[in-house]
Amino acid sequence: MLDSTTGELVDPAPGGTARFYVCGITPYDATHIGHAATYVAFDLLHRAWIDAGKKATFVSNVTDVDDPLLERAATTGVDWQRLAEEQVALYREDMTALGVVPPVTWTGAVESVPAVVEAVERLLAEGAAYRVAVEPGAGGDDPHLGDVYADLTADPSFGSVSGLDTETMTALFAERGGDPQREGKKSPLDPLLWRRERPGEPAWDGGSLGTGRPGWHVECAIIARDGLGLPFDLQGGGADLLFPHHEMSTSHDRLLGGGGARVHMHTGLVAYQGEKMSKSRGNLVFVSALRATGVDPMAIRLALLAHHYRAEWEWTDADLAAGVARLARWRAALSGNGGPDADATVAALRAALADDLDAPAALAAVDAWAERSLDPARATAGDDEGAPGVIARAVDALLGIRL
Ligand code: ZN
Repeated sequence: MLDSTTGELVDPAPGGTARFYVCGITPYDATHIGHAATYVAFDLLHRAWIDAGKKATFVSNVTDVDDPLLERAATTGVDWQRLAEEQVALYREDMTALGVVPPVTWTGAVESVPAVVEAVERLLAEGAAYRVAVEPGAGGDDPHLGDVYADLTADPSFGSVSGLDTETMTALFAERGGDPQREGKKSPLDPLLWRRERPGEPAWDGGSLGTGRPGWHVECAIIARDGLGLPFDLQGGGADLLFPHHEMSTSHDRLLGGGGARVHMHTGLVAYQGEKMSKSRGNLVFVSALRATGVDPMAIRLALLAHHYRAEWEWTDADLAAGVARLARWRAALSGNGGPDADATVAALRAALADDLDAPAALAAVDAWAERSLDPARATAGDDEGAPGVIARAVDALLGIRL
């Protein structure tokens, strides 16, 4: 796998265990193809680890309270909790349909509040965080308590995950949900840890912090810490999470003891109609919408696997058509009584996945077997009766494709 920090290929979990965290969704909209590509890529890694005999522990989160969710609820007039519940349910259906092995621990932001409060209180007590005054009307019964921000000067290793210069970090921070302009902060990059209660916004008991809700980065830092222990092997997500999200959450975990993920790994962003697929642009292809038109989710998964996890690519109708055709071809090849020997194909599958999770090469190995199997001119005398079953089980276990 490519370590996003060093740019080098590494084995993120060389021992007998693999502990990893993949950042989850904010459930205000359905799972689009870009999300699905990320979760399928990490699922492939998860399956490769299980196949290698490692004890793999997968932890993830769902950011079930955050600004985009509350904004969407407000603009559509839907209760935010109902919106979150509906979208979480849809996400689970999508992931199940796509054959993604679920995390052992899947924690919501709301659920994580008590642990986040304890962590933020500790950072404040240690001088690694500070309060920033809130505007009039904010802060519930204790407006003087203010919002809480991390003081990044408390962490000399801040910046070591992404290795970006300050100018780039500041630009990305503004672009990706940060608030560099917020008055009263010590440094523009300092991230929000605890947002005090605002009129019309949900808020939870924050102990000595006052009523409010967690910041996004500390939410993931705490859920990863409590699900995996610190440090852990790998934190992953789409390429746009490297900064600020993974830089910040790793910094929080470092100050909370033991460091965060040792390796960060990111998937290439998926474009559609000439632009990066994103909620703000509205150019989204939803997994649930494709499923609703009767598309076999295994064809969607094959369409995703046809691209290397690090590639930046553009989703087109041709991707889906190729996935549908490949699924039909594989199913036809497996329907015969016996077939060409499967051992070399299974070995090629494993080798492709071990080589920086090369899913396109893995598909090519199965394609080659299917082509031989379906060749009408093939001599069948040496066929192995069990070969289709072996291929089907290998493709299911390693690629997550149910045939
Ligand atoms: Zn996260």
